[in-house]
Amino acid sequence: MAVYSLPELPYDYVALEPVISGEIIELHHDKHHAAYVKGANDTLEQLEEARATDSWGNINGLEKNLAFHLSGHILHSIYWQNMTGDGGGEPLEKDGTGELADAIAESFGSFARFKAQLSKASATTQGSGWGVLAFEPVSGRLVVEQVYDHQGNVGQGSVPILVFDAWEHAFYLQYRNQKVDFVEAMWRVVNWQDVAARYTAAKQRANTLLLAP
Ligand code: MN
Repeated sequence: MAVYSLPELPYDYVALEPVISGEIIELHHDKHHAAYVKGANDTLEQLEEARATDSWGNINGLEKNLAFHLSGHILHSIYWQNMTGDGGGEPLEKDGTGELADAIAESFGSFARFKAQLSKASATTQGSGWGVLAFEPVSGRLVVEQVYDHQGNVGQGSVPILVFDAWEHAFYLQYRNQKVDFVEAMWRVVNWQDVAARYTAAKQRANTLLLAP
């Protein structure tokens, strides 16, 4: 029984052009994201089999695969919603309430400094990874994370609200080796309304870890 399914894109393949080509979006969603969904479902089945037969020889590999594929599915599901052909600008103009803009200024000093940190974190990933803006629920502040693969180098409990895919499959067909140019262009398609909605939802669930700040 499949637990996870591939979400539909909220726009046509070409909707993010010229920032991201339709060819990249089609491959990225239909092939790469789909593979993470299948990987997560397959791994859950293999774990069920391991429990049923008390066979734990591959437990390390299975747990790693679960983290990899499930995190890949979750990050890509957020990624598609984080972008729009009508995006860009700054959250102050776009999110309606100004709450996200205030939180960014409070956590990073200014929007420009936040933008510099997320750009740098995304563009300097070694191997495959992501740059992520996340809500950290213990302090209530926003943090930037540089994620290895889909699941490494992540602070426990943080909720991703804006994610930049910095894997080569996200840009290579169009930007070749110019990852810095791709990351700079990404800011033109950020859907700040979506990011702000994720911030509000994460903030409302802030005390889920039941820790003192
Ligand atoms: Mn990807």
